[in-house]
Amino acid sequence: MKLLEERIRKDGVVKPPDILKVDSFLNHQIDPILIREMGREFKRLFEGEGITKVITVEASGIAIAIEAAAEMGVPLVFAKKSRSRNIANDVWTAKVFSFTHGNTNDIVISKQYLSQGDRVLIIDDFLANGEAVRGLVSLCEQAGAEVKGVGIAIEKGFQPGGKELREKGFRIESLAIIESMNGETGEIVFRS
Ligand code: 5GP
Repeated sequence: MKLLEERIRKDGVVKPPDILKVDSFLNHQIDPILIREMGREFKRLFEGEGITKVITVEASGIAIAIEAAAEMGVPLVFAKKSRSRNIANDVWTAKVFSFTHGNTNDIVISKQYLSQGDRVLIIDDFLANGEAVRGLVSLCEQAGAEVKGVGIAIEKGFQPGGKELREKGFRIESLAIIESMNGETGEIVFRS
């Protein structure tokens, strides 16, 4: 998506060795016009998949996911991060290692909001090693829900998550795929 690539080039900040900061338009301050366009693009890409639910993980995926859900006219459910040792038995749960924080969280979705028969679109802001998406896929598998696609704002193509998930047969659509980024010069190269 040209609009997103241009914005990353203009306002993205490379933090060596492999983090891209997009706090000025996606992860802290949010550009509502840009994320609305992203929601429209996800709708266009996944139209025809019969999506009944959009899911993401709190917090950074929520804004984009809500735009996609609104465009598709379906509910958004966000998995909550839980620190409690005693996970209730009325939730689906998975462990996710956080790329940016370097710790492991349990993520949970109430059984009430994800169940058999759901045709799910998973949305997230970044795809790096694929941990967050794999956690969400696991919640869907537990629920008996079908993952019809994965929509990502920014995929870091030099990290293995996207390749691994595509090899497993998941349909991954990333609005911008970064082929490489240089921490010293700040240069970002997109996959064409
Ligand atoms: P993964 O689970 O695929 O390894 O990493 C994806 C998750 O980590 C995303 O939910 C995102 O919040 C965070 N993340 C991974 N890489 C980056 C990055 O370069 N910049 C930012 N801002 N977040 C990232």
